[in-house]
Amino acid sequence: MFDAAPEGSETPGPLSRRLTVLSGPSGVGKSTVVAEIRRAHPRVWLSVSVTTRPPRPGETHGVQYFFVDDAGFDRLVDEGELLEWAEFAGNRYGTPRRPVEERLDRGEPVLLEIDLQGARQVRRTMPEALLVFLAPPSWEELVRRLTGRGTEPPEVVERRLAAARVELAAEKEFDVTLVNTSVQDVCDELLALMAVH
Ligand code: 5GP
Repeated sequence: MFDAAPEGSETPGPLSRRLTVLSGPSGVGKSTVVAEIRRAHPRVWLSVSVTTRPPRPGETHGVQYFFVDDAGFDRLVDEGELLEWAEFAGNRYGTPRRPVEERLDRGEPVLLEIDLQGARQVRRTMPEALLVFLAPPSWEELVRRLTGRGTEPPEVVERRLAAARVELAAEKEFDVTLVNTSVQDVCDELLALMAVH
């Protein structure tokens, strides 16, 4: 009766469960959802990722991302400073480990907006995290959004569409799917899942 529970059978504690991962194909509207949460619900702490991608117009270092060069990213990987990282459409993106762990230790809700490869790494290293898949209302709508952004050269859009096709097939690996018909509805549903009122 006092035998140790088999590995992986622990009931997740209430704090560790507060890590929520929002993922889904590029262009599905993840960053719009995150921007709305940042605006309307500042209590939710949003992890700021590190990336080697150059800033888009309107993006600020330390707000949407920490923009670093390849050598800077290598250093973070080598020093074990990233909770997860992935290469996406020719650039690297990663989640700084320490700020996330500090918030979770304090019992604060944490939201990560990351790509599918990153979500899979979190699934492995933090199995108690809640994985949320943001799905487009339709494939046509996703193509329209990816093509219409107008900030990326055609070959980059092509790579993102190819990645999106693969990412859509991964929906079944997630705990919950939210369909992005309205940013407001998705935010409300996400906050309810995170138990933020
Ligand atoms: P974008 O260049 O459009 O801002 O982001 C491209 C992709 O990288 C998106 O799918 C976004 O979710 C993902 N991404 C952003 N930050 C991270 C991160 O820290 N880790 C991982 N794995 N993906 C990220």
